[in-house]
Amino acid sequence: MSARIEPEAGPTGRHAAGLFAAAAMHRDSNGNTLHAPVLVLNASYEPINVCAARRALVLVLKGVAMTEEENGHFLHAARIAIRVPSVIRLLEYRRIPHQSRALSRKNILLRDRNTCQYCATVLPSGELTLDHVIPRSRGGSSTWENLVACCHTCNRRKGNQFPPEAGMKLMREPRAFNLHTSRHIMRLMGRSDDKWRKYLFY
Ligand SMILES: [Zn+2]
Repeated sequence: MSARIEPEAGPTGRHAAGLFAAAAMHRDSNGNTLHAPVLVLNASYEPINVCAARRALVLVLKGVAMTEEENGHFLHAARIAIRVPSVIRLLEYRRIPHQSRALSRKNILLRDRNTCQYCATVLPSGELTLDHVIPRSRGGSSTWENLVACCHTCNRRKGNQFPPEAGMKLMREPRAFNLHTSRHIMRLMGRSDDKWRKYLFY
């Protein structure tokens, strides 16, 4: 049996976008059982993804995954009531590639959660720019480690200087967007859910 659950399962840009979409759905889904977020575990119990309940039910019904936790709701279809999962686990171990995802403006903003990395202002994507921490004019490269989300005000203030020269400081060290980042997002989503917590906090 092939456990193909692309594109949601792979640590790609679309994967992270899926996580955010699931988080957004969670907020406005009161009563919408099929859109409730479900934590997806690998066969090893390692958390790897978040998907909508509809997708989780399909994986369970296809025999690709099993329900580990239920969310207390039922999906009523014809004369049967199906228990809606809160956490599912893939039956076959799925190797998650560890290479970092594509370097793009979108993924940098996703990694930095649309937050200026100098002044911590959260802005829509259109109002953010990318800053080269080490300026390009001084040998800085376009890499995950040297690009951060930045508001226009901070970007102008920094100009062609290193952050300390401009009296500025990064909120955190920029890193490649990988499964670790995705797990961080999953933890934020699962913080208030006891059924998720035991799989995410260890
Ligand atoms: Zn700023």
